[in-house]
Amino acid sequence: MIVIAGVQTPEEHIHAIVETIEKEGLQAHVSRGSDRTIIGLIGSVEPKLAEHLRQMKGVENVVKISKSYKLASRDFHPENTVISINGVNIGGGELVIMGGPCAVESATQIDEIAALVKAAGAQVLRGGAFKPRTGPYSFQGTGVEGLIMMAEAGKKHDLLTITEVMTPEYVDICAEYADILQVGTRNMQNFDLLRKLGTCGKPVLLKRGFSSTYDEFLNAAEYILAGGNPNVMLCERGIRTFETYTRNTLDLSAIPVLQQLSHLPVISDPSHGTGRRELVVPMTKASVAAGADGLIIEMHTDPDNSMTGDGVQSLFPDQFADLLKDLELLAPAVGKTFHTPSTVS
Ligand code: PEP
Ligand code: MN
Repeated sequence: MIVIAGVQTPEEHIHAIVETIEKEGLQAHVSRGSDRTIIGLIGSVEPKLAEHLRQMKGVENVVKISKSYKLASRDFHPENTVISINGVNIGGGELVIMGGPCAVESATQIDEIAALVKAAGAQVLRGGAFKPRTGPYSFQGTGVEGLIMMAEAGKKHDLLTITEVMTPEYVDICAEYADILQVGTRNMQNFDLLRKLGTCGKPVLLKRGFSSTYDEFLNAAEYILAGGNPNVMLCERGIRTFETYTRNTLDLSAIPVLQQLSHLPVISDPSHGTGRRELVVPMTKASVAAGADGLIIEMHTDPDNSMTGDGVQSLFPDQFADLLKDLELLAPAVGKTFHTPSTVS
């Protein structure tokens, strides 16, 4: 349920409403918007309490919310969530580009790629140190050493870093070295991992499970939010359909749907979403046109020899740089800002 109060409602009235809710053993989440203040209630609300709240000073309305997720829903939090990390604002109208290899392979590899990612105008370096591989005999990542290599490359080239964390035990070490923690598609409903991320103190990029509905996806985000971490981004990375030409089907509708249902930033991953290099450029542009707040894109200096199978979907560095130049033109057409270094004076 939500209590709607006017934007002019004095602080003492909001405080009294929150106190009344908490006295009943329920949680109250206050969200101040430009035209109203929303107080969201979590827990089961007795009709008597709802009626009492309706009569309180400053209350304009009390509305029942039937969705199973609350903190992730736009009903609870009408304004967009903006995640600010060292001057990069995700969800705040700035198009955020995360680029880099599927996996951190060596210190030289990640350093070279970081330089190219930075020169192209991206703000975040991506790279997996712990890799979720379909088969147990495939390369599983460089682990903690990879985390350290990536943190050094990020620092050297002034880029934020994002890396995947697969188990609750590794959350703390990943949070120590990376700026953003990624939950992979295979772990979207790893509830112990999600709970642990609720208290990790770092922003989380949550990928949509490849067979998950929007409702399941938003409930997964709810676990992290309910654990006390408000900085969650939702990532559409393609779903499994009957089509086999592409690795997955990038669900472009997910971008506006998630932005309507939720206030959390929405990131698109056209690399895993298509699995084919020649589709990454058009689907990146389509994602921006559909309103994505950011993109996560694989790029490799030697994709044919990449240590994961994702070379086939990795852009070459010049393709990545040309794409970002095009985004500079496209972003303003959909109300976003994005600049490459060549145009920043
Ligand atoms: C990745 O980003 O390299 C990755 C493994 O992604 P996903 O979880 O979407 O497959
Ligand atoms: Mn990959």
